[in-house]
Amino acid sequence: MCLSSSTISSPYSPMPSTTSSTTTSPSTPKDNRLETNSEEDLSTDDMIVAKNSMPEDDPNGNTLHDAREIRWGPQHAGAKLLASQYTREKRIQEIISIILCIILMIYNFYFICRYFDVRNWYLIIPSALLGILTADLASGIVHWGADTWGSVDMPFIGRNFLRPFREHHIDPTSITRHDFIETNGDNFAVTVPYLLYMAYKFTYWNDINIRCIYNFEVYMFLLAIFVSMTNQFHKWSHTYFGLPSYIVFLQNYHIILPRKHHRLHHVVPHDTYFCITTGWLNRPLEMIKFWPWLESFVENYTGAKPRSDDFAWAQKTEKVHCY
Ligand SMILES: [Zn+2]
Ligand SMILES: [Zn+2]
Repeated sequence: MCLSSSTISSPYSPMPSTTSSTTTSPSTPKDNRLETNSEEDLSTDDMIVAKNSMPEDDPNGNTLHDAREIRWGPQHAGAKLLASQYTREKRIQEIISIILCIILMIYNFYFICRYFDVRNWYLIIPSALLGILTADLASGIVHWGADTWGSVDMPFIGRNFLRPFREHHIDPTSITRHDFIETNGDNFAVTVPYLLYMAYKFTYWNDINIRCIYNFEVYMFLLAIFVSMTNQFHKWSHTYFGLPSYIVFLQNYHIILPRKHHRLHHVVPHDTYFCITTGWLNRPLEMIKFWPWLESFVENYTGAKPRSDDFAWAQKTEKVHCY
């Protein structure tokens, strides 16, 4: 059991606002400049990103600031406490989910190939692309919901579901130290029920009925694959050393979440660029101010303050006792 007696300090500079940030307007098109490496593009926005997010090669994030004030990284007291809450039971659940999911994916893929008819390519390709887009949108909505609302103290979902999101903001590189199971267990688990249902249909339905639902199942299969792989893509977007060249290729061509693109989410107060599968929808959603609109709607309806738990964890400093 762990207890923490946290002190309130100012982990960020400037101190974030709970409703908006003058440093990170969601509509600021700073990513356009970040996608390039030319020196003339080192703008004020780049400096803001550097100042308000953790450098990936500096896990304690103290190079730019007073080293006595740990703002991010594995030495942050809140990050230590959250990491200690990863339990053996949770790991067993993750292992079972991943094994089940992989078996079902292979089984269903066999039937997707068996019923594939190249003459229907004009329906199959859009179905597959729509599945990937839906996965990206789902990643944004789930990520936004978990970052913005709720608390680690909530029964069951707090420790099992919200904890990794809080840990990720105050120690973004922790994901690179998680193995495949800890990184992907939750996402693989989410897809198991539908993959099971898909397997049932492919096994027991007749050929005519299967051909009727084939395009929808292609959509659902791609959705399941990309939902499952979301946190792996996310992990790779935080991995700055030793990535295989084909992963870097996929990132550079924005087929999966690129590294500089995702850095924009890790700017205090973490209120933008929530889509983490491919990131294709981040710019369109920023353009229509989707997240601020959704937040005002929830805030007006429930009275809850966005990101209040996230800020509380960021502000935990020393005095974590585990026994
Ligand atoms: Zn986040
Ligand atoms: Zn991240």
